Amino acid sequence: MENINCIVCGKNISTAYIEVSDRLSKSPELFQLVKCDCNFVYLNPRPSQANISTYYNSPEYDPHNNLKNNKLGKLYKLVQSVALRFKFRRISSFHKSGKILDVGGGNGEFAAFMALQGWKVVLQDKISKIDNLRDRENIIAVQNLEKIKKDECFNVITLWHSLEHIHNIEELYSQINRLLKPDGILLIAIPNINAPEKPFFNNKWAPFDAPRHLYHFQLNTLNELCNRYKFEIVRKFSLFQDTPYNILLSLSENTPFQFLRGMLVFCYSIIVTILRGPEHSSSLLVICRKA
Ligand SMILES: [Zn+2]
Repeated sequence: MENINCIVCGKNISTAYIEVSDRLSKSPELFQLVKCDCNFVYLNPRPSQANISTYYNSPEYDPHNNLKNNKLGKLYKLVQSVALRFKFRRISSFHKSGKILDVGGGNGEFAAFMALQGWKVVLQDKISKIDNLRDRENIIAVQNLEKIKKDECFNVITLWHSLEHIHNIEELYSQINRLLKPDGILLIAIPNINAPEKPFFNNKWAPFDAPRHLYHFQLNTLNELCNRYKFEIVRKFSLFQDTPYNILLSLSENTPFQFLRGMLVFCYSIIVTILRGPEHSSSLLVICRKA
């Protein structure tokens, strides 16, 4: 385990926030989240980059696994299809075509969708499996951003729920700065620690996902982080499609009572997000430009 300073303000002044167990393991190991003086919540101490892979080895890890293998599979497919179109529309309002880099793109569902729309896609992931994807000729997979040549500059770089997994944030932003065109856009989607459903689940709130999620942003702290690396947020959106997923994974048991409770919390969350905006959504999307 390693101790780190706050990645937002750089200081080391924090207090205990909450203890969380690994939701994918039966191990009694507890992980400590701390809250910095600047309000940012993060995992500290955390497994080092060399040791984190053991926590990704669970067969449960495919982030949407739990939803694919049961009756909710069809609902999952529908939500996923709506989500892909939502992401595509957000990007199209800035750039109609070009080159896109998806950082931490997993098994490449988004990469494949963008390739089908005619984009040239580079998918970065430590373990990327693109063999089964359609339009492979428009997708290049790399394991590390450093491997991408400077003349490969991108119109769009996306981090769909990957920022919270990355150890070296300084190096990440340095690579993004190197690879994004001056008029390019950076899209960052993250779970929001201000999520309306969070108080109903306490330390069982699924997006805590310790020790895989290293950071817990809200709009203010994400804005501070982007400013630190010379990016400014130009648009922000609520990711409504993540609300049912975050709630279903937070339910402690698969019983009718828990399901009913989940439905009520879902209705409450959606209403709060509609009334109060992206700062109070389950997950948050921001679009940034170089400042
Ligand atoms: Zn801080």
